[in-house]
Amino acid sequence: MITRPTPKPWIAKIHPYAPGKSTAADGRALVKLSANENPLGTSPAAIAALETHRQDASAYPDPDAKELRAKIAAIHGLDPARIVCGTGSGELLTCAVQSLAGPGDEVVFSRYSFSLYPLLAHKVGATPVFAPDTDLAASVDGLLASVTSRTKVVLLDNPNNPVGSFLGADEVARLHAGLPKDVLLVVDQAYAEYLAAGVDDGGLALAQAHENVLVSRTLSKAYGLAAERIGWATGAPHLIDLINRLRGPFNVTASGQKAALAGLEDQQFVEDSRDHNSAERARFSDAISALGNHGISAVPSEANFVLVRFDGSVTAGAALDALAKAGYAVRHLPSQGLPNALRITIGKTEDMDRVIAELQKLCGDTA
Ligand SMILES: *Cc1c(COP(=O)(O)O)cnc(C)c1O
Repeated sequence: MITRPTPKPWIAKIHPYAPGKSTAADGRALVKLSANENPLGTSPAAIAALETHRQDASAYPDPDAKELRAKIAAIHGLDPARIVCGTGSGELLTCAVQSLAGPGDEVVFSRYSFSLYPLLAHKVGATPVFAPDTDLAASVDGLLASVTSRTKVVLLDNPNNPVGSFLGADEVARLHAGLPKDVLLVVDQAYAEYLAAGVDDGGLALAQAHENVLVSRTLSKAYGLAAERIGWATGAPHLIDLINRLRGPFNVTASGQKAALAGLEDQQFVEDSRDHNSAERARFSDAISALGNHGISAVPSEANFVLVRFDGSVTAGAALDALAKAGYAVRHLPSQGLPNALRITIGKTEDMDRVIAELQKLCGDTA
């Protein structure tokens, strides 16, 4: 006898998204190098906008984020009518998958990609399909080989999370060219601002030229506005229309819209974030490479984190524990099939010094 409401079978299968940890097992607060947040914080202009507008809490926000979309369009050379803003880019990815996939359909992504992707498929009763990788990175051939007549959406995080790998414009174009016209390619550019100046995967141009490409962006990473939950997506009008049907009606808060506008105007902050990241990422990766004789290696990264592999006597678990003891939360990824790796966000210079020193100490102890 049924005694309580019964969920749809695919809902019961969902494992909720696991956010990056910020406390130790004993409750101590840790420096969070587990969620790819901006160690420089937020643009002072965006903080000032939040301060100014927190009085306006009683009115609903602009449901269409018109001013914000106009600003995004101006910065990226896009048509504001082909932009939709979301409660983080996560909402937009959710809507894109929901609008096209359901029970019996497949959603394809690289074996090692954003941990939200399988959830997006499960939420709508679709089947997540993990495509074969190449040395952990997304493989165009692996993705194309995984596409079947049931495939509705291919998700590509570029740069990739958690690997940090990047597919150039030629490879992304080859992926798109190999897909049937009725399969949506989502290029998730959450870390695009961290790419070296002039490097571009061509996603925005593809989204302007084709009816089956959507590009998503976020203000959670390089803009340092993760708390405000602001993302945007661009693509053909029919795709934007689908997302507009499904998104929340007032999905970007009034303060969030103001903070995003101010943050977008402060491109110096984004540049400073990129410069800090590339310098510290190079320094950190070099320090990890120097531990190569202990089986520890850094996967080359184009993002604001580095995947560190532990293939020797020092295990990822031991490093996780040692770093927690030293006050740092990093991301251990056994549930994503990477039990021998830690994803470490590039933090402040002094924090990276400390993390490097702890890993060196761990190797010294076991040498
Ligand atoms: C962090 C991240 C996002 C951003 O999500 P928001 O909802 O915009 O905060 C999107 N995609 C990937 C791959 C990410 O790592």
